[in-house]
Amino acid sequence: LVAVEGVQKHFGDLHVLKDVDLSVAAGEVVVVLGPSGSGKSTLCRTINRLETIDEGEIRIDGEPLPTSGPGLARLRSEVGMVFQSFNLFAHKTVLENVTVAPIKVKKVPRKEAEARAMELLERVGVADQARKLPAQLSGGQQQRVAIARSLAMAPKVMLFDEPTSALDPEMINEVIEVMTGLAKDGMTMIVVTHEMGFARRTADRVVFMDAGRILEVAPPEDFFAHPRTERAQDFLAKIL
Ligand code: ATP
Ligand code: MG
Repeated sequence: LVAVEGVQKHFGDLHVLKDVDLSVAAGEVVVVLGPSGSGKSTLCRTINRLETIDEGEIRIDGEPLPTSGPGLARLRSEVGMVFQSFNLFAHKTVLENVTVAPIKVKKVPRKEAEARAMELLERVGVADQARKLPAQLSGGQQQRVAIARSLAMAPKVMLFDEPTSALDPEMINEVIEVMTGLAKDGMTMIVVTHEMGFARRTADRVVFMDAGRILEVAPPEDFFAHPRTERAQDFLAKIL
């Protein structure tokens, strides 16, 4: 479903993605691990074209990423992204946050968009908060709204970039549970996270990045038990 081939990316003199290849099948959950600055966020951002690439190709469902225009808007609806900071619209209610893109971009009638939004808010466990503003919610609730907002566009793949890193410990699990549920329902997911429990239990494959390169790709049981590279061994020794 997602094919990343031979991707090179520079920021000025800094070579941040070095010949990156990654393919993700429909329904697969890939967790991306690696030290700070290794290029994990940049990789995610190239997949929904928040960043351009210098060389290589990225395809979603066989289609090369569009560069601009209506194709780009469609891409953004096909590839959902959830960030560390929730980025909700502060002056819109929870319900409006979830309905605005379907109504504006997909021209879904308001009634229908609201009914669908309520289902999604139910699914992430915040339906009772629908009429509140984001600031009235906890961080964990806001992040679950952000997930519902992405899902409202019916994406083919969801990218998560450290979705729990800004949350207090007691709120991490509620977000991880929602993500685990999505994975069980067959969503294709690329997840950058430090939640090793999620990686072990839910990932089909773990990708380990270091200094802009993918050094290892392995099922979590293999990666955690027998990291092949010294870089991965060092990384795991520090975090486990
Ligand atoms: P972290 O775990 O800290 O989030 P990361 O693996 O997500 O790190 P990236 O954010 O992808 O790493 O950054 C990779 C490299 O690219 C870093 O050296 C970073 O400083 C650099 N970088 C990222 N974005 C930009 C930018 N917009 N302009 C210049 N350099 C950038
Ligand atoms: Mg990052």
